[in-house]
Amino acid sequence: MAQDGAVASLAPGFRVMVSAGASGIGRAAVEGFVRAGARVHICDVDAAALDKCLSEIDGVAGMVADVSDADAVDQWFDVALDHLGGLDAMINNAGIAGPTGPLETLSDEDWRRTIDVDVNGMYLCTKRAIPALKQTAKVTGDAVMVNLSSIAGKFGFPYRTPYSAAKWGVVGLTQSLACELGPFGIRVNAIQPGPVAGERIEHVIAAKAEATGRAVDDVRAEFTANTSLGRFVSAEDIANMILFLCSPQARNVSGQAIAVCAGSTDMP
Ligand code: NAD
Repeated sequence: MAQDGAVASLAPGFRVMVSAGASGIGRAAVEGFVRAGARVHICDVDAAALDKCLSEIDGVAGMVADVSDADAVDQWFDVALDHLGGLDAMINNAGIAGPTGPLETLSDEDWRRTIDVDVNGMYLCTKRAIPALKQTAKVTGDAVMVNLSSIAGKFGFPYRTPYSAAKWGVVGLTQSLACELGPFGIRVNAIQPGPVAGERIEHVIAAKAEATGRAVDDVRAEFTANTSLGRFVSAEDIANMILFLCSPQARNVSGQAIAVCAGSTDMP
């Protein structure tokens, strides 16, 4: 759950869609939204994780959808908007880590899949979300989009070029959309998480150790050594920022890429 006391207040009846909401950062955000009284609709590509999430959190609805599949995204929006009756916030959270290795060794398929999920998937969801957000902002004066970038979209990330390219792309998309949508009362921001403690980062560390011929413990230590606070962040840290950006307290925050990264100064 999002940490005590850190959940910002949301407007009553707040309606939010979260892509890839069944686990990790998405699920932590979903828990925070539910605790703040929001109505939530999620998608996830993993049916088992989705079922688990829906059975464990009361008041959340969702369906299986791969954000890189235009038809699946259309179906998700049809169902979710019908269920919610409108949209106050779109959380573009889905993103895969992609391959690890020197660029010239990466497969075209791995490169394309990373861009497809992390950038094109965000485009597909955003395209459907904008008309609904405009409709809301016309009535309430405020609607929100939050896009998950990464500190790999702030620094260069050797051996993770497709991921880094995608996450820098998310920042460009966010800043351009903030200019485009601000006149309609829609705020658009990106969050740049540092390495989040958990299963995903352990896979990333193991892949980097293999690609560089180093010990796993050395690579893990390097990840935290690159933060001024000397630690990983948590999914709840990111969820708290997502909720803050959706709250009225952030009503004048738009066009920003906000790092929640324990003070990262570089990528390992
Ligand atoms: P994760 O790898 O834990 O996956 C979360 C969920 O995404 C899973 O349930 C998975 O099934 C779902 N998913 C994967 N591909 C999907 C697709 N094509 N369509 C729909 N759902 C899909 O992810 P996470 O660590 O919670 O990361 C969430 C976001 O934050 C991503 O955009 C990620 O790039 C970004 N991020 C994560 C970290 C980190 O260290 N975990 C750091 C920086 C940024």
